[in-house]
Amino acid sequence: MALPPLSEEATKSPDSWWHQKKILNSVLRLVLAMTLAFFIIQIKLDFFESFLYDIRVRLRPPPPVSGEISMVMIDESTLQNLKKEPSAKDLGQLIEKLSTYQPRAIVFDLDLTNLQGSFEEKKFFAEASLKNPNVYFMTDDLGVAGQSIRSSYPKPLDILPVFPGLKSADISNFAKDGVSRRMMIAYQGRQMLHLHLATEINPTLKDPSKIRGLFSFLGSDQLYINFHPEGTYPRFSFPQIFDGPIDPKLLNRRIVLVGQDLKTSKLVKIGNEKMERDYVRTPYSRDVLAMTSTELHANMFDTLILNNAPVRTSFWLDFIFVGLISVLTVYVVFSLRPLLGLFILAGSLVGFGLIGFFTFWPFGIWVSMSHPWLAIFLCYYFFIPYRLIIENRRSWEIYQKHRLLKQVEELKTNFISMMSHDLKTPIARILGMADVILRDPTPISSQQQEAVDTIKHSGDDLLKFISSILNYGQIESQAVQLHKQGRDINALLDEVIAKHEFLARLKKIQILKEFETLFPISVDPNLMKQVLSNLIENAIKYSNDETKILISTEEKGASVVIQIADQGPGIPAAELPNLFTKFYRSQNAKSSTIKGSGLGLYLAKYFVELHGGQVFVESTYGQGSTFTVQLPLG
Ligand code: ADP
Repeated sequence: MALPPLSEEATKSPDSWWHQKKILNSVLRLVLAMTLAFFIIQIKLDFFESFLYDIRVRLRPPPPVSGEISMVMIDESTLQNLKKEPSAKDLGQLIEKLSTYQPRAIVFDLDLTNLQGSFEEKKFFAEASLKNPNVYFMTDDLGVAGQSIRSSYPKPLDILPVFPGLKSADISNFAKDGVSRRMMIAYQGRQMLHLHLATEINPTLKDPSKIRGLFSFLGSDQLYINFHPEGTYPRFSFPQIFDGPIDPKLLNRRIVLVGQDLKTSKLVKIGNEKMERDYVRTPYSRDVLAMTSTELHANMFDTLILNNAPVRTSFWLDFIFVGLISVLTVYVVFSLRPLLGLFILAGSLVGFGLIGFFTFWPFGIWVSMSHPWLAIFLCYYFFIPYRLIIENRRSWEIYQKHRLLKQVEELKTNFISMMSHDLKTPIARILGMADVILRDPTPISSQQQEAVDTIKHSGDDLLKFISSILNYGQIESQAVQLHKQGRDINALLDEVIAKHEFLARLKKIQILKEFETLFPISVDPNLMKQVLSNLIENAIKYSNDETKILISTEEKGASVVIQIADQGPGIPAAELPNLFTKFYRSQNAKSSTIKGSGLGLYLAKYFVELHGGQVFVESTYGQGSTFTVQLPLG
């Protein structure tokens, strides 16, 4: 009857099945990582991201300035000099004085609601402002689209040329930490003063598509400010304009901002937010009085003039980064050793930090760092328990397998020992009977003589084999005990050689001895005889007829060195490392008729090492082998 054909499943090699499983696992991990990345990118991390942005701003060398901006500040020295706050008359005189330097523009960043001075003085100020067409008053009022913006100050200041020029801070949007990072350049099509004046210097700005880093937010066009540290721009105090000293180059053809730095905190409502009137928090410092709003405006003008606003990477680019990092983390968690994995993840954390920094400086590109970092942490903590479960299960399986193997091994050893032990007695009896026949003077036929000789030799072989197995069993159950006595190694060797002389004579092998006189050393004579017997027997067994074996002893340093050198077949170099392992027989020995268990050298090594000595072999294939035993003298 023919056997039915195997099913397709059964004919698949285990290799291809394993391969498929591996691919499926990889795909599954990839999908998981990308799904996680997709969720991670949705998490709002503006606060953390802005914090990381601020660090980048602080760490980079300050960007260049346009050299188009200067500031005139009403500060504490002004109050000391004038003994009061500057009045309308003082401001009017300031405009007149500044105008002599022919600046590109004089921009007032002052709240004139409580301006001191008589009606006449205010009128003088308003007229002075109108006389110079380059005088501007910034207002926080955005006005309604289509309508012109008017001064909200009472007469006669209602004629002042006002222009929208807002500052903004992340109060209820983005990072919500009150720091100014963005600037509005247009609202519902109406340009802010910054864009208006900057376009005069840099006409590229006329084309909105050429404005770097432009983005829309709540109906306005915005940019990130390219911040400079506080104190970057040339600054004059109010009295300095009148009394000097002044380098005219620092005012001529420049945008001169007039502001106030009196270190007083005054909240005003700008848009929907309540903000300090004269100060802002910046990426450099979150102090309430970190930077004057006048200097903030200077930074805003400069960003536009140089058209070098930082650019944020797009959502999709961030998603790709987060996806790549997630896939890497999942790969690391599942496939690498934990310590190496941790190193790689720490490396990618630092690596991504460096990418974030070096794209910002010098290229002004703001790569989102918070999401990739979060991806590393989340993927790691999400998948690590998974890996732990898998590994736990694997090690439990290995433990079970190991336990089973140990039990089987014990059973095997016990079984072999028991069997060998039970075999030893009947064989000894058979050998005894063969001896009785051999010693009996009654003549027997040559055939009978041959049969008894064969019984004797086979019995000897069997007994040797069983002894090896019994010794092996003892070693495995760690039951070998040393019974040491002071013995002369030369005498032990003589005894062993005498036992093997018959076999050597049969093969016409000459055993040469070169013994140095030795002091007795402490050894277990039985075990040592087994060691020497095995080495000498091997030398005879594996050597060809009519060769020589040299057995030598000498004292070398603190050891007795015994060498058994033969002219036998030698051992291939590739096999040498395995020679002393249990049950190992060389290829040549296995394919020859020479009998052996492969246990002799294993036992010899074990016994010699038990004596604190060592055994090794040098052999040239085709020329012979030399086995050396070194035993400690003490
Ligand atoms: P075996 O019972 O096979 O002799 P051993 O453990 O005594 O086992 O030796 C292991 C193997 O080492 C042998 O099978 C043989 O191939 C090789 N060997 C040992 N002694 C010699 C020698 N003197 N010359 C060549 N090969 C040897």
